[in-house]
Amino acid sequence: MPLEAIIGLEIHAQVATKTKMFCGCDNDAFGAEPNSRICPVCTGHPGVLPAPNRKAIELGVKSALTLGCEIPEHSKFDRKNYFYPDLPYGFQISQFDEPISVNGKVEIRLNGAKKEIGITRLHLENDAGKLTHVGNFSLCDYNRAGTPLMEIVSEPDLRSAEEAKIYAEEIQKILQFVGSSNADLFKGEMRFDASVSLREVGKEKLNARAEIKNLNSFKALESAIAFEIERQRKLWAEEKIPEKDTTVGWDDEKGETYLMREKESASDYRYFPEPDIPPLKLPQKQIEEWRKDLPELPLAKRERFVKQFGITDDDARNLTESRNLADYFEKVVEISRDAKKSAAWILSELLARMKEDELKIEEQKISAENLGNLVKKIASGEISGKIGKEIFPAMWERGEAVEEIIEAKDLKQISDSGEIEKFVEEAIAANAETVADFRNGKERALGRIVGEVMKLSKGQANPAMVNALLRKKLSE
Ligand SMILES: [Zn+2]
Repeated sequence: MPLEAIIGLEIHAQVATKTKMFCGCDNDAFGAEPNSRICPVCTGHPGVLPAPNRKAIELGVKSALTLGCEIPEHSKFDRKNYFYPDLPYGFQISQFDEPISVNGKVEIRLNGAKKEIGITRLHLENDAGKLTHVGNFSLCDYNRAGTPLMEIVSEPDLRSAEEAKIYAEEIQKILQFVGSSNADLFKGEMRFDASVSLREVGKEKLNARAEIKNLNSFKALESAIAFEIERQRKLWAEEKIPEKDTTVGWDDEKGETYLMREKESASDYRYFPEPDIPPLKLPQKQIEEWRKDLPELPLAKRERFVKQFGITDDDARNLTESRNLADYFEKVVEISRDAKKSAAWILSELLARMKEDELKIEEQKISAENLGNLVKKIASGEISGKIGKEIFPAMWERGEAVEEIIEAKDLKQISDSGEIEKFVEEAIAANAETVADFRNGKERALGRIVGEVMKLSKGQANPAMVNALLRKKLSE
């Protein structure tokens, strides 16, 4: 009987708050001196009292609402007990049976088709510190200890490594759109655990699964799941069907998973309600207020761009890569009044430069107004596309305004028929052979003469007028 892969993801994303989950320490410790962002609370000294971060709760709930989750009126924090040197409390403050949100779903696009992935829950917890192993020593940095995390648990609705990757990318985009997490994989602000098992197609019951821990890039996520599916497929072929849940690690260099331990179950953690934090009560009114703040989601925006602006789905997907880029595009269109040209300029010229210089849209120098003006002038024929490309570098490098560059360099398109006629006549006189070719029926020769005229006018002649005038002259 054919087998299908059953995959579920747990995504940990760092909440973009200024301070940690239960104390006032700086939450942005990336690149900071080890143990320079700590206090007695986040290092678990005896007698300290953790106090939940209001902003972390707000951002968690907003993310959950975006993922279509229900927000129960009551929720609470629990202690998840385990020992590890980077966990000074000896337990993690997490949420067990009453999380801040349950029962959501998110839509993904797979080769053009839509698919819904169920979200079991999104809950809040604090992160552990970080161990660095040096020779015979292990160094402990608690800067990250106490950082707020959202854990987003999906239903086992994913069926392939590619699907899991697309889902994870969609979640990253959504969190970035909401502004609840920067979800920067490079900085470790987003990490994945993937559960993989196989099942005979048509059967309902789930089989023992392997949970791949701590995947920290989309590529690792996809490769590890693909490897694990194949590994289990071979076991099934040999009739050695896995019977126990296991926890496995991913060796990026070898490109294979390895067994870490039999998977611990919830009872191993001896969860119990965190006695130092009262249960949370979220009034409906507050939730509705937060709901009003939610942005349009990436997929909805992408569909709207196609409908409203008549651009391709591919272009719309690229323009909704980030909320700032999508906003930028809309501002450019507002000024240029030409969506297709605006999209083309952003996706080819601007994004190519940004990629080269590794800049984000909000870090580069061309304002949306400035690019909008450029596209507007090209669309109206005031300057040619070619001149546009000549102007672009000064806009990119120094943020100079289009008008000033055109003024300073006298680059306005020539649309005066008398002036163009002079160039046309000059080109005809200097290219007798090409002219003869055209007159003998070689249509393509015309393009060469147009090129000559453009050269004579330093690219400033209006190409449509040049074409029309040339045809008229040559048929005389
Ligand atoms: Zn602290």
